[in-house]
Amino acid sequence: MYLSVVVPCMNEEESIPGLVVRLSQAIKPWKDQAEIILVDDGSTDATWKAIEAAQLTCPQLVGVKLSANRGHQIALTAGLEASQGDRIFMLDADLQDPPELLTDMMFMMDRGFDVVYGRRSERRGETMFKKATAHLFYRFLNAMSDVPIPQDTGDFRLVNRRSLDAVLAMPEKARFIRGMFAWAGFKQVGIEYIRAPRELGETKYPLRAMMRFAIDAMTAFSTKPLKLATRLSFISLLMAGLMAVYVIYSLVVYQTAPGWASVVLAVSFFSGVQLLTLGILGEYIGRLYVEAKNRPMYFVSEDTRDVEQSPQRLRA
Ligand code: UDP
Ligand code: MG
Repeated sequence: MYLSVVVPCMNEEESIPGLVVRLSQAIKPWKDQAEIILVDDGSTDATWKAIEAAQLTCPQLVGVKLSANRGHQIALTAGLEASQGDRIFMLDADLQDPPELLTDMMFMMDRGFDVVYGRRSERRGETMFKKATAHLFYRFLNAMSDVPIPQDTGDFRLVNRRSLDAVLAMPEKARFIRGMFAWAGFKQVGIEYIRAPRELGETKYPLRAMMRFAIDAMTAFSTKPLKLATRLSFISLLMAGLMAVYVIYSLVVYQTAPGWASVVLAVSFFSGVQLLTLGILGEYIGRLYVEAKNRPMYFVSEDTRDVEQSPQRLRA
């Protein structure tokens, strides 16, 4: 197998027919040695049916169905683990990332790069809010992270087997795949492209999911927030010292108990700092807990390659 294409799909019934058409066009030069793996991430719509239907028109298509929704990064991991190709191409189901860029990515990989990622020079059809938060996120993440993570890139990329094996060897459950490739090292290069608007359906990354993703990324790639907690406690100690001088001064000069303003200020400031620090600790401890449990990230409930396990296939 030369080329594997991996696409995580959650409630993408509308997108799949168009996706398969564009993908099979894009992989034409390699079609005899290619597979397209669509991972159904516990969809509640007819995504799996759409995958099975698309198999009739596209012989390279493989469907892998997860037993429940596990999130974009884990669905992608499941697809990557199922892939057999020497080169692995990953993209979203909604055609925001043009499959046609595969040709250019292949060209760069022939030049000796291990990872060729797409860099969004422009995002079309996305809200100002999404663009602004994404922009801030990538800058902030880099300021925090111990490894430089390419700016404005998603998981849209072509990787070779050795860089993928490096990433799959990392056992963590909190997966931030673009960062893991950056951390793995190897020779990487970006290709600029314009990110199209989503063709059909709606985003599966509402604000809440984006926040969770951002915190996952931050904690997985940096311990700087923990250091921030220490720094904050120093600042608050300093403030407490200044406050003490003020309190003693007003006690001596005015001979009265100092007003409530300083008390309220002190209490709210220090409790704020404490809660923030505890919160940061909690984020890391929660993640240690998840890693310590060491549960499998996902279960495959159906795989179209595996006739034994696929009741649909047996019945047919
Ligand atoms: N996705 C998934 N599981 C999830 C959420 C999203 O497999 O829990 C898939 C989704 O089907 C799509 C990709 O991840 O192929 C990216 O999601 P989306 O396009 O909604 O994100 P956006 O482009 O809006 O950031
Ligand atoms: Mg999208």
